[in-house]
Amino acid sequence: MIPGTAERKTEKLVVIGAGMASGRVLEHLMTEAPGAFDVTLFNAEPRGNYNRIMLSPVLSGEKTYAEIVTHDDDWYAQQGIDCRFGESIVKIDRANKVVYSNAGGVPYDKLVIATGSAPFIIPVPGKDLPGVVSYRDLDDTNTMIAAARPGAQAVVIGGGLLGLEAAAGLALRGMEVTVIHLMGHLMERQLDPSAGYLLQKALEARGIRIHCKGATKAILGTDRVEAVALEDGTVYGADLVVMAVGIRPETRIATDAHLEVARGITVDDALRTSDPAIWAVGECVEHDKQLFGLVAPLYDQARVVAASLLGHEAAFRPVQTATKLKVTGCDLFSAGDFAEGPGREDIVFRDPGRGVYKRLVIEGDRLIGAVMYGDTADGGWFFGLIKDGTDISAMRDTLIFGPAFQGGPSADPLAAVAALPPEAEICGCNGVCKGKIVSAIEGGATTLDAVRAQTKASSSCGTCTGLVEQVLAVTMGDAFVLPTAQPMCKCTRHTHEDVRRLIKAQGLKSIPAVMQELGWTSVGGCASCRPALNYYLLSDWPLDYTDDRQARFVNERNHANIQKDGTYSVVPRMWGGVTTPDELRAIADAADRYNVPMVKVTGGQRIDLLGVRKEDLPAIWADFNAAGMVSGHAYSKGLRTVKTCVGSEFCRFGTQDSTGLGIRLEKHLWGSWTPAKVKLGVSGCPRNCAEATCKDIGIVCVDSGYQISVAGAAGMDVKETELLCTVATEDEVMEIVSAFVQLYRENSRYLHRIYKFVAKTGLDWCKAQVVADLDNRRALAARFELSQSVYRTDPWAEHAAPRERAKWQPLADLSLEAAE
Ligand SMILES: Cc1cc2nc3c(=O)[nH]c(=O)nc-3n(C[C@H](O)[C@H](O)[C@H](O)COP(=O)(O)OP(=O)(O)OC[C@H]3O[C@@H](n4cnc5c(N)ncnc54)[C@H](O)[C@@H]3O)c2cc1C
Ligand code: SF4
Repeated sequence: MIPGTAERKTEKLVVIGAGMASGRVLEHLMTEAPGAFDVTLFNAEPRGNYNRIMLSPVLSGEKTYAEIVTHDDDWYAQQGIDCRFGESIVKIDRANKVVYSNAGGVPYDKLVIATGSAPFIIPVPGKDLPGVVSYRDLDDTNTMIAAARPGAQAVVIGGGLLGLEAAAGLALRGMEVTVIHLMGHLMERQLDPSAGYLLQKALEARGIRIHCKGATKAILGTDRVEAVALEDGTVYGADLVVMAVGIRPETRIATDAHLEVARGITVDDALRTSDPAIWAVGECVEHDKQLFGLVAPLYDQARVVAASLLGHEAAFRPVQTATKLKVTGCDLFSAGDFAEGPGREDIVFRDPGRGVYKRLVIEGDRLIGAVMYGDTADGGWFFGLIKDGTDISAMRDTLIFGPAFQGGPSADPLAAVAALPPEAEICGCNGVCKGKIVSAIEGGATTLDAVRAQTKASSSCGTCTGLVEQVLAVTMGDAFVLPTAQPMCKCTRHTHEDVRRLIKAQGLKSIPAVMQELGWTSVGGCASCRPALNYYLLSDWPLDYTDDRQARFVNERNHANIQKDGTYSVVPRMWGGVTTPDELRAIADAADRYNVPMVKVTGGQRIDLLGVRKEDLPAIWADFNAAGMVSGHAYSKGLRTVKTCVGSEFCRFGTQDSTGLGIRLEKHLWGSWTPAKVKLGVSGCPRNCAEATCKDIGIVCVDSGYQISVAGAAGMDVKETELLCTVATEDEVMEIVSAFVQLYRENSRYLHRIYKFVAKTGLDWCKAQVVADLDNRRALAARFELSQSVYRTDPWAEHAAPRERAKWQPLADLSLEAAE
């Protein structure tokens, strides 16, 4: 020691990673105990600490890099920190307490690992092509900025927080952006489907294309990226691909040094690793089986690490975090736990006009989660209630309106109709739009009858009556008293008919869209409205809407009828009730192979295999498919059977080929989803051996042609069909029957059989639509065919596929594994 100089007692502290977590650790140390450590700071990036969460504003051009630097060269110099930027640590020698970079070793007394996370790259072909970038640091951001040319195409894989910020930034730079997201809605970890829907709408409004349920298959290109191909066959052209599908803790050097590492570097409450001389902080750590991806908990960790390094007692206790998306104009907020679960209740507020959605999740007397979109002003207040576990029972009724609420406005039931533009069609039959009805009302037509007389609105099938009345109420205010109508279910004030009309008038194409825009009062609907909405959307938008299996009844989901002992019954389709020896052999073989306890001929001339175990369903379907048979849809709200008699081919009385016509009809109509089950019968003469006159649609062949009658029933109600028309040719039968089925599909309330539909709309109206008006008949038949182009498929074939089979297996019996 040089005489006269004080012995330096400073310990050598080495920090690996100059990110947001270690930056905060150093700040604490430099404030609380300047000079306590001789600090060397390594960083793989060739720069010091900047505010990583502000990279998105840099990408979009709203900020510059200089504006987001948190610790500049002067700061490091003032604190006497030895900065080794651009130098990665490749090895930790714990025995000798030395870290190594490629430039050599540096000894430490105490070591802090703060290496953050590495972006996850999905292992698809083409992932290494030039033009594919992740989104983590300034270099990634600069690569994106360099590639962003107006009109060029960008594909962002991942619709989470980072992916959407990247998408919005690139769109602001003039790129054509497509976001591919694996899940059903955006930001599914932070948002529920309703909020996800509003976010998607907002992003689409700014020109960003969103493809949910999209699985990336390959990134295409030769010298650099050219396109992205999805599993469903879609291909998007791409000059730039941003991979933002998630992050993984960066633990490599810790693992190599044999520190305890699970998903992240394992730390105790003081953020110490399994080596007492080494601490870890930030996204690279795993504390109490939890990982961290937002800065708020990392800043808490930083305080604890600093205290611990200085020898003080300190413990990290994770607290709730809240999320906000930094995309201008997309106000969303989520915090806490908002998964559905037993004992949890929801309070939901929707204001479709303003695009506002708020949902609070309550358990007992506490608020445990909040999701908001559109108006997030009260987010902080709700977050406080969640964090503090405040008893909210006293303010429960008014909680959703926020801290400033006094009194309690209730949601406006007429909001959806008020928001309709003048050109929105209210009466489909007569093509009357809202503007015309409003003009009539303003001109003095102040009653339903007067509006009907002047505009013809609701004067035909009458299903839009409720909507016309609502237009009267919206236009006249208190001067019109709205008759009370039975709402669809407890989740809405709208009737089935109103919902059907509004789906069309507002072009709503998903269940969250309907629920948001029509002001549903529940989060995700109920067992009554979800199947109905699923059907209405499927019927109105066959090309745009994808069937939601979860919104279906159990028989429809499982494509077999569940029986009272939990087994299933399986009915292969026999076109027109005709079978062959080969088919019968296949049925007999299946009955043997799957120990089917009963084989029964149904009232609709099909063979029912009763008592099939759930786990055998895919195999039995596959066997039937192999024998050329498809599902009889004996469980669906769709075409069940077309019962036939022998007809002219064999019978002495038959006037026409009723069997052939039945087969033709069944092959044409099968697979279509309808509001309730549909059964047909075709008899070859008026002796009516197929009992066609108690079916939903019955055809009786006569000398001059075919009598088509509709609206029969032989269930709880028994009713004879009513004559729709008589036609001369089979082709006319085909066209009229498909037009009539489509009329029923488009206008009936869900679960109403055809006889109820006809009772409501009137047979005369049906005749006018499908018999008298030839153009309308053809248009209906064409719309039916369009829908069939998507839905005339065998559900068994899809679910018998090997990859689907696991879903039908019972849970494994793990006790057997332990015995081995
Ligand atoms: C674009 C973007 C937007 C974000 N938005 C938000 C937001 O809105 N809100 C929010 O709370 N969070 C947000 N985050 C997350 C937040 O930035 C991170 O949680 C935080 O930065 C993690 O801090 P960290 O110190 O653990 O890691 P980092 O900040 O990532 O720092 C780790 C550093 O360690 C370096 N390093 C790694 N290995 C080595 C090695 N072997 N040797 C030397 N150096 C090494 C890395 O290069 C890096 O510089 C965002 C992140 C990104 C990328
Ligand atoms: S309905 Fe007429 S054609 Fe058909 S089987 Fe009976 S008698 Fe014969």
